Amino acid sequence: MKIGALKEIFEGENRVAMTPDSALQLVKLGHTCVIESGAGAKAGFSDAAYEKAGVTVLPTAQAVSEAADVLVKVRGPEASEVALLRQGQTLISFFWPAQNAELLEAISARGATVVAMDMVPRISRAQKMDALSSMANIAGYRAVIEAGNNFGRFFTGQVTAAGKVPPAKVLVVGAGVAGLAAIGTSTSLGAITYAFDVRPEVAEQIESMGAEFVYLDFADQVQDGAATGGYAAPSSPEFREAQLKKFRELAPDMDIVITTALIPGRPAPKLWTEDMVQMMKPGSVIVDLAAERGGNCDLTIPDERIVTENGVTIVGYTDFPSRMAAQASTLYSTNIRHMLTDLTPKKDGVIFHNMEDDVIRGATVTHEGAITYPPPPPKIQ
Ligand code: NAD
Repeated sequence: MKIGALKEIFEGENRVAMTPDSALQLVKLGHTCVIESGAGAKAGFSDAAYEKAGVTVLPTAQAVSEAADVLVKVRGPEASEVALLRQGQTLISFFWPAQNAELLEAISARGATVVAMDMVPRISRAQKMDALSSMANIAGYRAVIEAGNNFGRFFTGQVTAAGKVPPAKVLVVGAGVAGLAAIGTSTSLGAITYAFDVRPEVAEQIESMGAEFVYLDFADQVQDGAATGGYAAPSSPEFREAQLKKFRELAPDMDIVITTALIPGRPAPKLWTEDMVQMMKPGSVIVDLAAERGGNCDLTIPDERIVTENGVTIVGYTDFPSRMAAQASTLYSTNIRHMLTDLTPKKDGVIFHNMEDDVIRGATVTHEGAITYPPPPPKIQ
């Protein structure tokens, strides 16, 4: 089959879904590759690099779509891209089907199949295709780098001839994939790192990375907050109060706060309130990774960096993976390549869209003209 990568058209999106390396791997599956001219430029992959890897560079999205059986992208399709899809063609990209009912209708009406990378079941076998995790890992790392860029001091403590420098204190709120990446980055830079999550089972992971788990003065901490499948549930009002009380105690002492707390299907919980921001020292930094879902901090403005009257910088960017486009493209294109490996079981360049396979079924949101979202729960855990 011919796999075609489109140039992203979303404003500010720098990633690309195919790299020269991933194309070489796709060839080993018996596929050939085409790409739209300039698609990799913002991620550091030139047309010449693709050509060297045997990829045919075509001038327009239209030409790529006409040539390809399978289209790969990062962002979900916009209207002009939906118009490129045809009967029997497959699109693999992020899609967010719960928020895109009209898009599902439009694509199924065209008879195309969509594999949504955000719908890959989070089971062990599918980890290699888990683009949510690979992008969250980058976001967590980059959040610390962004914090450091806005923080006028060292992370690590130093004793120098010019004086003793205390280590920075960093609090990470939410220890899922992004939070754990932020903790690892922060401790490796030498900051004293604290972390909190409503799921107490992550305490061990936090501590094994050299950070300190923040315990609440709350009898039911073990019961509250954890839902099924490793995700969080909304906290009880009493738990929330205990959490906010603890954060108020910590706020004056923290130099950097990185918030990553999310609950599936809900707006981000507000956990870092205005009064906590006011208690922080001038020069402190908050990076709110939940900005896209409304933010964990009361004062976050999505896609902006603001400085409050008391000198606290609040970063609400929503494009952290795109800010590391080379790395993000490399990992995302690998996730896509693994998905295509499972879709090409005989490695003979023939796609077998096996709807009996839990992972393929879970991620397929339209299939040959039918809407197949939501999927049944996976059989294997
Ligand atoms: P997420 O992005 O949905 O949420 C981020 C974190 O915020 C979670 O750890 C959550 O517990 C926490 N949170 C929610 N409300 C909070 C609050 N009020 N205060 C503090 N923290 C709060 O999570 P994610 O990174 O997508 O990971 C979710 C789960 O999925 C984790 O258990 C992770 O280990 C698991 N996971 C499994 C696989 C796999 O098996 N393949 C892959 C990735 C993730």
